[in-house]
Amino acid sequence: MRVGVLALQGAFREHKLAFERLGASVTEVRLPEQLEGLLGIVIPGGESTTMAKLMKIYGLDRALTDFYRGGGALWGTCAGAIAVSSEIVDFPDQPRLGLMPISVARNAYGRQVDSFEVDLEIADFVTPFRAIFIRAPRIVGIAPSVRVVASYAGAPVMVRQGRIMATVFHPELSGDDRIHGYFLDRLCSVESQYQPASQ
Ligand code: GLN
Repeated sequence: MRVGVLALQGAFREHKLAFERLGASVTEVRLPEQLEGLLGIVIPGGESTTMAKLMKIYGLDRALTDFYRGGGALWGTCAGAIAVSSEIVDFPDQPRLGLMPISVARNAYGRQVDSFEVDLEIADFVTPFRAIFIRAPRIVGIAPSVRVVASYAGAPVMVRQGRIMATVFHPELSGDDRIHGYFLDRLCSVESQYQPASQ
């Protein structure tokens, strides 16, 4: 099973290691052609405006859209959740992929609680998941088609709609690979292996 990590900026190495611990082969994606043959890709945490600029420079904004529409699975964590969202309420002009009908507010947990950890109840997980939040965005709205998999303090923090999911915390930093396993098992399917239309 081959998946990708968007490796332009941010915490992509930790995602790669988590997928590798689960036995997946991992491609670091910096160019559109590197999406070929992948079942899914994670957009990591980092800084969402920088990531959006780099995505545009390398043509990855369109390529990731084609990848998802062509059957690939997509997972955004933290800044990656901002990247997949359809609306950024406090920065309405910030470029985004708009592939998931969720509204987010950046840096919405406030400066005093820049970073924090909580034990999160996740649907279908037997024991709680230690979730690390780092200047996390807050999901302030979701379309009815989006399923809330986990919430914290009255807001969804892990959401899914078919082959796309978003987590506003950093599952790659917990040393607990269950959410990476969830992505591989439930969102990435072999039938969806991506081949660009031109080939
Ligand atoms: N606050 C950052 C942003 O808005 C995201 C932080 C993160 O990914 N850890 O881009």
